[in-house]
Amino acid sequence: MDKERKLIIAGNWKMNKTVAEAIDLVNGLARELAKVKDADIVVCPPFTALSDVSKAILASKNIALGAQNMSENNVGAFTGEIAAVMLKEFSVRYVILGHSERRMFQNESDELISKKARAAHAAALKPIVCVGETLTEREAGRMEKVLETQIQGSLAGLTKEQMAETVIAYEPVWAIGTGKNATPEMAQEVHARIRADLRTLFNPAVANDTLILYGGSVKPGNVDGLMAMSDVDGVLVGGASLDEADFHRIVWFETKPKN
Ligand code: PEP
Repeated sequence: MDKERKLIIAGNWKMNKTVAEAIDLVNGLARELAKVKDADIVVCPPFTALSDVSKAILASKNIALGAQNMSENNVGAFTGEIAAVMLKEFSVRYVILGHSERRMFQNESDELISKKARAAHAAALKPIVCVGETLTEREAGRMEKVLETQIQGSLAGLTKEQMAETVIAYEPVWAIGTGKNATPEMAQEVHARIRADLRTLFNPAVANDTLILYGGSVKPGNVDGLMAMSDVDGVLVGGASLDEADFHRIVWFETKPKN
């Protein structure tokens, strides 16, 4: 598939996998996906497995490591938190920020997410900033406003240069872990809308160059249609990234499309 922006296929393992299970999964992926060139593959294990997964992918040219969260602070008395520099010790390159589960269960605000994004950039980590509407918001016709507010708030204070190293993930809350994915057309419409917001907030170049991933019940059976959309630059995969064969198939799609 010809796309002008380099694709990212990311797996968010959430609070799954012991260290042994994580190594097992990533070793399998590294073997099977060694020839993938057209996409960056990002695995985001829990913090406890970062060190070992980092060692396991040392020789891999196309699998990068991501974290699922980080603190907005660099150091100090913040019990239970992890700083960006600590992630860097394990060669982490990406960090998921503002996932809807954190917005929901940890009450993370757009303001906090923007602080984390700035801290990530200060440590040369690439944030994957998640945005998405709930079903109630969509049905009430508030989706566009909600997304605009999240985009504006979560990216506040980022420079155009930092935006070049920032990824956005559109993850409708109603599609996460529910088995109900947005149709390709729905995803395309929202991604184009987000690009329009980026044009207003930054400039046309930022709007054109920013990678926008879709996330929400991506599976082997629906990835092809989603990836066929011009503004879908990859996927952020939860449940299906825990299964080696499913994740393999998801990555396989866009690197070796069927005729
Ligand atoms: C996610 O949590 O980022 C996600 C997209 O989950 P799932 O694929 O399971 O819906």
